[in-house]
Amino acid sequence: MAGAPLIAFENVSKRYGAESPPALDDVSIEIAPGAFVAIVGQSGSGKSTLLGLINRLIDPSAGVVRFEGEDVQRVDPIGLRRRIGYVFQDVGLFPHMTLAENIAITPRLIGWDMTRRKGRADELLDLVQLPPADFRDRFPAELSGGQRQRAGVARALAVQPHVILMDEPFGALDLRTRDALSRDYRKLHDALGLTTVMITHDVIEAVLLADRIAVIHEGKIAAYGTPHDLMRDQANPDVRALMDMPRRQAERLTALMRKGSA
Ligand code: ADP
Ligand code: MG
Repeated sequence: MAGAPLIAFENVSKRYGAESPPALDDVSIEIAPGAFVAIVGQSGSGKSTLLGLINRLIDPSAGVVRFEGEDVQRVDPIGLRRRIGYVFQDVGLFPHMTLAENIAITPRLIGWDMTRRKGRADELLDLVQLPPADFRDRFPAELSGGQRQRAGVARALAVQPHVILMDEPFGALDLRTRDALSRDYRKLHDALGLTTVMITHDVIEAVLLADRIAVIHEGKIAAYGTPHDLMRDQANPDVRALMDMPRRQAERLTALMRKGSA
């Protein structure tokens, strides 16, 4: 990989208990600045553990996680989390706060005054296509699932982090909403020059969205490559099994389209 990685795992393991098998097992992986990386793998394979190690929600049992070259264990976690936005599957908006207040939580914590917070909230609402005049004073209960996720993305971007971590952000949404949101998010990633690490259950989403896909299996990185590389990989049984479904769907659709135009 050319240039210094933004995020690097060096032989990282994580054990939650002395008796249990490692949730992550000797993982080494590098993420380049500006990359959009999808993490895919079965439930319990260690995806959320991997993500949490980046912003020190979780501490490694062995190995080193580096952010901009620094061992994250030596970095102030609060400062680190300001540089790294996080989007959760359940969003976690506070129900008694308006959307603008929810989005401006971190700005308030770091002492921005009201005028600046309001300006930033409106800017972010615009960015995620929730027109501020209509949305700034709404409460979370007055939003659809997709709108809530947009608000979650806005909140994660509040203090201009360069990195966004997402743990199955769109998993609970219906297909069309998910498709619209993930495409809009990819545009934001490109426009803002972000680095994104996104966990997804959906291999097709990963293939269509990401520059690189990391396949994780029982705490190990089974593969790490471009969607193109992984689609063509016939040697690795874990990868083949995972890519088989999108490949067959694509083939079936292509065949159908041909028939339609014949
Ligand atoms: P995924 O996100 O891929 O579903 P996780 O990283 O959440 O996987 O979990 C990996 C393994 O670590 C699982 O076996 C899970 O039960 C275990 N694990 C995760 N978090 C904890 C925790 N806080 N305490 C104990 N075990 C945990
Ligand atoms: Mg998880």
